[in-house]
Amino acid sequence: MILHEALETAVVDSCDVLVCGGGIAGISAALAAARLGKRVLLLEKNYLLGGLGTSGLITYYLPLCDGHGHQVSFGIAEELLRLSISQGAEDGYPANWLNNSDPAQRTEQDSRFEVRYNAQLFALLAEQHLLRAGVEILYGTYAVGVNCDDDTIQAVITESKSGRQAIAAATVVDATGDCDIAWFAGAPTAVFRQGNVLAGWYYSVGKSGYTLNVVGYADKPENQKTEADRERTRDWERFCGLSGKELSHVMQWSHELTYTDLMNKRSKDATVVPATLATIPQVRMTRKLVGTYCLDDTEMHTFFEDSIGMVSDWRKRGPIYEVPFSTLYSPTIKNLITAGRCTSVTESMWDIMRVIPCCAVTGQAAGTAAALTSDFTSLNVAILQDHLKKSGVILHEKELTP
Ligand SMILES: Cc1cc2nc3c(=O)[nH]c(=O)nc-3n(C[C@H](O)[C@H](O)[C@H](O)COP(=O)(O)OP(=O)(O)OC[C@H]3O[C@@H](n4cnc5c(N)ncnc54)[C@H](O)[C@@H]3O)c2cc1C
Repeated sequence: MILHEALETAVVDSCDVLVCGGGIAGISAALAAARLGKRVLLLEKNYLLGGLGTSGLITYYLPLCDGHGHQVSFGIAEELLRLSISQGAEDGYPANWLNNSDPAQRTEQDSRFEVRYNAQLFALLAEQHLLRAGVEILYGTYAVGVNCDDDTIQAVITESKSGRQAIAAATVVDATGDCDIAWFAGAPTAVFRQGNVLAGWYYSVGKSGYTLNVVGYADKPENQKTEADRERTRDWERFCGLSGKELSHVMQWSHELTYTDLMNKRSKDATVVPATLATIPQVRMTRKLVGTYCLDDTEMHTFFEDSIGMVSDWRKRGPIYEVPFSTLYSPTIKNLITAGRCTSVTESMWDIMRVIPCCAVTGQAAGTAAALTSDFTSLNVAILQDHLKKSGVILHEKELTP
């Protein structure tokens, strides 16, 4: 059965740049656009910034370096890494990177330029950081649709405690992680074919202190994996992460495994209690843009004229990727740009591009571009690149110090 509703939706606000989603990508985009003097609204369905990086308890800021001693991601990617541990790192502090020691002294034996942070502290710090930059944050606001005129988004439809409303914007950054806005607007998107496995990261406190625990089979260290774990976590099940009912089920399943894990721990130390549970589903890859260009994992060490910055491969030392601007937008909707874990990459590149530093790199570029134009298809990329360079971003591998 289909219900037909006659809706009249009030346009309650308008802005230069509307950032949808307040994860790492949205934070980076909003910061970059606000610094160029634009009126930026950031809407976020939860009441905390950081997305998977805070509410999802993913607290490893993966490397900004290539593992051979070269920093490759700069600008806001580095700024947020430093911000995340500005009140103390959770464990190892990569002093060889953070204290600006001599780059020539860094070798592949060194730890990589990565940190672990406290999720809640980072969320609070990120909020203060955005407010200081002049970003207006709308929490509890869900983007549920768009109003499009041919190839341009006029307004994003929202739902919140105030009901259904619309916000008009010159440009829109899709930082929802799930490419929701592009999908609402009818831009070409693709879903993750392999599907996601269950992840259950949570923190506990007890005699051994404040501890990060993982209950998902895939996230356990290889030497701790047992067949019983595999059975218990039904490691063969996959989910797409785009169905409300399925996500609700996944959260309940993750809670059940978390509870069992806690009871096991309490049988050895009765003081153990949960300290923090994830308040959003821990889903890696869902839907992405099919953009003007689609970056593949074979394109490491490739020069792209329209590069907006570089990323490394968190899984191994060596690869460096220049990220083409053309992976952030599609010609279909001219004033829409994506950032974070939903940009245009192949399935095999997705696992590299979805992590925190890469989300900050694409977020900064998307926010900067959104402040410069309302038609990404005709933007003079050299102007965007000039702005990025002025903000400390290095665009091409050949520009790195050997
Ligand atoms: C189990 C797991 C382990 C991981 N491990 C690591 C790791 O060790 N290190 C690492 O760097 N990365 C890791 N990642 C990946 C990384 O955490 C995320 O991919 C990254 O944080 C994504 O950032 P994002 O801003 O693109 O998206 P998200 O963090 O998903 O943020 C999107 C934001 O948009 C909001 N939103 C979504 N839809 C709407 C809507 N329609 N309206 C309004 N708001 C909306 C969400 O609430 C959220 O706050 C892991 C991910 C998972 C799931």
